Amino acid sequence: MTIVVTGATGQLGRLAVEALLRRGADPRDVLATGRDTARLADLASLGVRTAVVDYDDRATLDTAFEGADRVLFVSGSEVGRRIAQHTTVVAAAKAAGVSLLVYTSIPKADTSGLVLAADHLATERLIRESGVPFSLLRNSWYLENYLPQIPTYLEHGVVGSAGEGRVSAATRADYADAAAVVLLADDSAGTVHELGGESFTLAELAAAVADASGREVTYTDVPAEQLTEILVGAGLPRGYAEVLADADTGLARGDLEVTSGDLERLIGRRPTSYREAVAEAVRDLAPSAR
Ligand code: NDP
Repeated sequence: MTIVVTGATGQLGRLAVEALLRRGADPRDVLATGRDTARLADLASLGVRTAVVDYDDRATLDTAFEGADRVLFVSGSEVGRRIAQHTTVVAAAKAAGVSLLVYTSIPKADTSGLVLAADHLATERLIRESGVPFSLLRNSWYLENYLPQIPTYLEHGVVGSAGEGRVSAATRADYADAAAVVLLADDSAGTVHELGGESFTLAELAAAVADASGREVTYTDVPAEQLTEILVGAGLPRGYAEVLADADTGLARGDLEVTSGDLERLIGRRPTSYREAVAEAVRDLAPSAR
């Protein structure tokens, strides 16, 4: 059996390859792919095969998918170009006769109001219409979206536009483990998994940082337009700042809150909680930053 992982040069894809091996996949059955195979050398050293896959280059997909049974299709990161790229990926999977296409989507893709959800919904539709057997991993936010900002939280508090909205963020490692479980199971076709960890408000996130650091950390709620300006002022490109502020308004609506229990059920253990991840990230900070 050949399991292809796309986006293996990225953070989630790499963790998915590692999770597959941990869960017993034969390294020779795993084909880790990315645009630059030099960046897959460490995975190759584990015995995994590697190949070039560029979503803009159909020939690379045809070559990588030849003989593939199952594919983990990690959503692309080039917002604005993804629908065209994903159309190419799905067409190649269909042409290759892939028996399971596992796509990383977003919670409640069919009803989510997030700007980011549009590409995911379009891709889910492409996949369903293709007739290729599929499984959808509707991953909520990564905890790692927040953790690098802990030094900023310690200095300025948490600022957002999420109100009392809850986000069911989980670690990339837990989502990757769930992906490995779905890829290795024989009954995954047709499944839709709403995946997320223990939910929290941004005020609870601030409280977790305060608890872990012993410092005072508060949450300030601001209108989305103001959040955009704050993020632009901090150096983010305006388009990206708008997407992040839009995501916070989605949090306020509950678009990224997941109550299914699917993640825990798939991985067979409680996902890492935000409190655990925050405590570890604070411990890892240089003493001067704590
Ligand atoms: P990364 O940015 O670490 O990895 C993205 C991967 O997608 C990389 O391997 C990248 O390749 C690959 N990729 C992007 N465009 C193409 C392309 N045209 N052809 C082939 N490969 C491509 O993201 P993560 O691993 O952290 O997350 C995976 C995906 O999840 C993201 O791509 C994005 O769609 C989504 N996401 C989800 C978030 C969440 O909180 N749930 C947050 C952020 C993103 P290369 O290394 O060559 O760039």
